[in-house]
Amino acid sequence: MRNESYKRSMKTITGRRETALREAEERTTKVCLQVPRIREIQNQLQQTGGKIAKAVFSKQDSRTQIEQIMLDNIRLQQEQRQLLEASGYPTDYLEIEYFCRFCEDTGYWQGHQCECLKKLIAENNALEFNRGSSLSLASFDSFSLDYYPEGDSLHAASSHRIMTEILEFCQTYAARFQKNASSVLMMGDTGLGKTHLSLAIAGDIMKRGYTVLYVSAPDLFRKLQNEYYGRGDQGISMMDTILSADLVIIDDLGAEIENQFNTASLYNIVNTKLNAKQPVIINTNLVPKELERRYSSRVASRLMTMYQCLKFVGKDIRLIKLKNGES
Ligand SMILES: [Zn+2]
Repeated sequence: MRNESYKRSMKTITGRRETALREAEERTTKVCLQVPRIREIQNQLQQTGGKIAKAVFSKQDSRTQIEQIMLDNIRLQQEQRQLLEASGYPTDYLEIEYFCRFCEDTGYWQGHQCECLKKLIAENNALEFNRGSSLSLASFDSFSLDYYPEGDSLHAASSHRIMTEILEFCQTYAARFQKNASSVLMMGDTGLGKTHLSLAIAGDIMKRGYTVLYVSAPDLFRKLQNEYYGRGDQGISMMDTILSADLVIIDDLGAEIENQFNTASLYNIVNTKLNAKQPVIINTNLVPKELERRYSSRVASRLMTMYQCLKFVGKDIRLIKLKNGES
């Protein structure tokens, strides 16, 4: 998987470089048609390297010759800038505009992977993780309130009214989503639409270019554990991917194996993302008391106070759908 993400990322970077070079070429062609003198200047500037090489091997005073070539070079560049300005162009109009000014779209800078390459790999990793999920299947349109009856006696408010509010909250959350959006805790029994609505949020904001990492709790902790014990893929870690995603969705918290490693990892993720002011959506069947017992009161209280809590109500939609003969 790591290799695939790396290849994909390098392809993007090579594409960026080709675009930057082509656009500079196009700008030059356009300007030279308008100001022919600039073509002459460009030709002379291109000969600089050859002239210097010749001077180095010349029997006469090399240094004076090289100094003269450099001086000519500066004068030519000055003239070019003046010509550009006089024709209404910015003075740096013919320079190559790289996407990344550090690595100049090569992916490597000072002998290491450039930040732009690391970011792309993390994004591609998130896409890779998401591929296996039903990320594209759920939308707000396909979320039906018909399954939540009005006036059921179990709750003070009908589940229909509560779920209408929750649906509206999620739609507004997606519409107003920003990188520093609040985190959300979706609580309630299995089959009440927590996964559906969190995936609908994901689908909505991904269309606007945000990166989303969707992962089930059992998968997440297994990957973290494999990495911790050195059995995972080398390169960009799961934690890096979690940190770089604009929104992380952890589905089905509580379905994973109960152990100290998982508890510590959850604490670490919740804390790190809160400190970075980056949103997380956590879905769980656990009630507050169970959250506290499993993950300590420190984690539970952070989730209950720092996250927006949505309490899903109703009857298991999947069972109702089965009874009605729907899939
Ligand atoms: Zn770069």
